[in-house]
Amino acid sequence: MNRAHLETAPAWNGVATSSSPFQSFSQGDEDIAAPHPFQQGAVSRCARVNRAPILRLGAESAPSQTGPVQRLGRNTDGYHGETIDITGVLVEFRELAALRGFSLRELPVTDGCCLLTAHRPATAGTVEPRRLYLSAGIHGDEPAGPLACIQLLRENALPPDADLWICPCLNPRGFPINSRTTPEGVDLNRDYNHGLAPEVRCHTHWLQELPRFDLTLLLHEDWESNGFYLYELNPDRQEPTTLAAEIIREVSEVCPIETALMIDGRASNGAGVIHPPTDPASRPDWPEAFWLFQYRSRRNFTVEAPSDFPLDVRVQALVRAVHTAFQGAQRASTQAPPPA
Ligand SMILES: [Zn+2]
Repeated sequence: MNRAHLETAPAWNGVATSSSPFQSFSQGDEDIAAPHPFQQGAVSRCARVNRAPILRLGAESAPSQTGPVQRLGRNTDGYHGETIDITGVLVEFRELAALRGFSLRELPVTDGCCLLTAHRPATAGTVEPRRLYLSAGIHGDEPAGPLACIQLLRENALPPDADLWICPCLNPRGFPINSRTTPEGVDLNRDYNHGLAPEVRCHTHWLQELPRFDLTLLLHEDWESNGFYLYELNPDRQEPTTLAAEIIREVSEVCPIETALMIDGRASNGAGVIHPPTDPASRPDWPEAFWLFQYRSRRNFTVEAPSDFPLDVRVQALVRAVHTAFQGAQRASTQAPPPA
């Protein structure tokens, strides 16, 4: 973490970068004035209302790309992007999730810190609904993930006939200091087989209460990458096997794709897809994806938006990835079984 940067970098002020071809962020006064659903009745210590500027994306996700997306040229030795108001983001997440029929739980982590989770069951009568899991914000210097969760709720395009679980921010103490790690320096995404951090212990305890998922999707950013890419865990070749390529194709309409053959030390297919080994012994420090793979889902996507591109581009990339992945999982659920 670069202290000097933190002291000089402006907080995210709701104004999109001028180079962005997409819709701008703006502050929504109506949200500031609206009563908060948690203000009445039992107010958890984690649901304190912060009336700092609320982040807003455009109401629609369809970008109107008018030219190539420009790099910011900002991240030369680490992430030097926006610091978002995570408290305000999570306030808006709560409001939108409640509006969209999700039930919310706040899992106590430490004094004054909770993990927010949201769950919405499939609409009544759905036969064998898919169970889909989405998480974001495990690294506090990757703001696009929590913002993408908000955008997904605003669009109200998450599948109603699926069981959905969302964790919009797994590292709420890292965001205020714009740090990948917790304030104690723990990289949560390397702690899932150790459980050193209370956030991880809290998260896995909650996950253990839940059923297995058909698909898990984890939202990340990479400050070094030249474009969007993803990791796929699907050793059983569950259908649709083309889903990784479909995600890349959809995201490519709004964001550059990383085409390097080696990404972060791992072999890529040259089109933004990495299939890392799934042997738990291959990783001494488990990321969230490995824990989920071992205990809750054999199909996982970890998607990485490129931090050196405008924030709204990264948000749109992640939103596209979620839509495509979830639609693919839903498609698999409705496909006729193969003939005997
Ligand atoms: Zn990350």
